[in-house]
Amino acid sequence: MAQVRFNHVYKTFNKVEVVHDISLDIEDKEFLVLVGPSGCGKSTCLRMIAGLEEPTDGEIYIGDRIVNGVDPKDRDIAMVFQNYALYPHMTVFDNMAFGLKLRHFPKDQIKKRVEDAAEILGLQQLLKRKPKELSGGQRQRVALGRAIVREAQVFLMDEPLSNLDAKLRVATRAEIIKLHQRIQTTFIYVTHDQVEAMTMGDRIAVLNGGVIQQLGSPQELYDHPANMFVAGFIGSPS
Ligand code: ADP
Ligand code: MG
Repeated sequence: MAQVRFNHVYKTFNKVEVVHDISLDIEDKEFLVLVGPSGCGKSTCLRMIAGLEEPTDGEIYIGDRIVNGVDPKDRDIAMVFQNYALYPHMTVFDNMAFGLKLRHFPKDQIKKRVEDAAEILGLQQLLKRKPKELSGGQRQRVALGRAIVREAQVFLMDEPLSNLDAKLRVATRAEIIKLHQRIQTTFIYVTHDQVEAMTMGDRIAVLNGGVIQQLGSPQELYDHPANMFVAGFIGSPS
């Protein structure tokens, strides 16, 4: 069964259609990349899964449940944004624990989850530090940690590397791939960067103008681009 499903989903803002008839099955535990140029509707798709926007038409499923109208906090998702502002006055531990405290998790469970996430991300030695005492890459890992502690079925990431410099971006890409292998959940990863998409995705959905142009493995997109747009965007030779 698909973990996340779009069934003929449309989204209109102020009479402008930004998502047009998207149907998409995202499989359990896969790493799906949603890639396309700025303004093509990527974030809107992710925000509809998270419940931060509602479809104008069509259904979104998480597992076997239609989640239209379901409150974001009642969806089994965790999200990492581009601007992952950490709370500057809180330690790394408290930044990672914050979402669990809000949800009234017991203290010992919070401690265990934060320590487990810190171990996965190599943050064990940094739990007492404040964000300003961390490097950019370490801060990015704390942002990932805040999502990991949720232990959600679906992990949503919206251009999580775009605030990092080029060198760090490449290193963090590899870390996110490792993280996916380690925590074995469904990742839906949004980027406008085709290299990121081609190196990270099990499958890639290429979006343009609110329409999925093609869905396939990196190899399929490269070898058999469905149209000129995909060929140009992916940089395929054909
Ligand atoms: P992407 O993430 O691919 O850059 P978005 O999903 O953010 O694209 O936006 C798609 C289109 O929808 C853009 O034209 C954007 O201006 C518009 N849009 C997004 N959110 C809103 C909103 N809340 N109100 C009005 N227009 C919006
Ligand atoms: Mg966006």
